[in-house]
Amino acid sequence: MKFISTRDGNEAVSVSEAIQRGLAPDGGLYIPQKLPALAIGAFEGLESDREIAARLLEPFFVGDVLAGQLASICEDTYGFPVPLRDVGDSTKVLELFHGPTAAFKDVGAAFLAASLERLEANAEQPLTILVATSGDTGAAVAAAFDGRSGCEVMVLYPRGRVSKRQEKLLTCWGDNVTSLRVRGDFDDCQRMVKSAFADPWWRNNRRLSSANSINAGRLLPQMTYYASASLRIWRESGKKPDFVVPTGNAGNVLACLYAREMGLPIGRVVMATNENRPITQYLKTGEWKTFETKQTLASAMDVGDPSNFERVLYHWPDVDALRQQVSAVTVSDDTIRDTIRRGLEEWGQIWDPHTACAIVAREALESELAVVVSTAHPAKFPDIVEPLVEREVPIPEQMAEMMTRPKSVTEIESTLEAMMGIEKG
Ligand SMILES: *Cc1c(COP(=O)(O)O)cnc(C)c1O
Repeated sequence: MKFISTRDGNEAVSVSEAIQRGLAPDGGLYIPQKLPALAIGAFEGLESDREIAARLLEPFFVGDVLAGQLASICEDTYGFPVPLRDVGDSTKVLELFHGPTAAFKDVGAAFLAASLERLEANAEQPLTILVATSGDTGAAVAAAFDGRSGCEVMVLYPRGRVSKRQEKLLTCWGDNVTSLRVRGDFDDCQRMVKSAFADPWWRNNRRLSSANSINAGRLLPQMTYYASASLRIWRESGKKPDFVVPTGNAGNVLACLYAREMGLPIGRVVMATNENRPITQYLKTGEWKTFETKQTLASAMDVGDPSNFERVLYHWPDVDALRQQVSAVTVSDDTIRDTIRRGLEEWGQIWDPHTACAIVAREALESELAVVVSTAHPAKFPDIVEPLVEREVPIPEQMAEMMTRPKSVTEIESTLEAMMGIEKG
């Protein structure tokens, strides 16, 4: 199986190359040349996420240097539970937040780290992974690479723009993770990373890679929980559930669309977005337009220019064809607040702001059986959630342990020179 760029379909690379490069040289995103088809029967007898992932991802790794290691990569990746909880007669919640940093990004980051560690096993010089983050991504990537040989991580986050708990999760790691608190905003962090990639010193003296959400190594493993959940429901009831997915950069929802395309028993797919509207506007008007990013309560979905959408547009270039695939709902901050406030009474649940968007979309959907995808634990956002539910939200165990670790961070100006000073020591 080869991967091609969304921009130039001629140069095909293996899945390992796509993972190592992150972005194609022409600036496009890597996509599988053709999505493999798998009959539901191909999963017979497979129960765990690990087994289902190994089967689901196998066709992508045929002929690849990692083919023989896929099963052990899946062993490493799917180490935490993904419960599918009943909340009411016709709704289930798929909890993707039981990983180390309590957000769904732990799954993709773990798979990426497990793959790169194996690819880098014999490299003479370590790979330096640069991550600019507004909160969740940097923590998930740091947790996934912590202590792995062959890879060093530099995390850049904006001073004063992440919550206390998020900052702790960005700064509690071992020697191969460098945490940089930047005197600037998220865009400054992103600019610094981009300029490092373009800078001769960095290019000549470091082997750089990125771990952001457009890396195929994060996209592919996200299909697994859609496969597992839909198979579980299909086996129990013969029903194809609809899925509602909190959406920002559209990586998570694309994994769901891929899983359905490959043959898994998935019904309709709905994207729940916050007030950042590029995707909902596109589905409404058929005209692709990016927006200034707007700050909302569901901050991990604050994306005005969702880079992953380039893949969606490649697969379904015609807007009417895309409307057959997926729909979208916009949710305002006021509605997010209201949904969290009535969560306990109406659903018996405390929702985080991202999952709350999906709950709103679920309530608007006529569905016999819908799976709401829950992307983060509410304890990650205590300042928003606790006043609304009028109680303390207990921290999950794995996160509580991290809160006790010592913090290691260096504060720097928002320039490439400052970053270089750290790197040269
Ligand atoms: C990143 C993130 C999202 C958005 O996922 P995309 O793949 O970018 O659409 C939603 N919820 C949480 C909690 C996240 O961290």
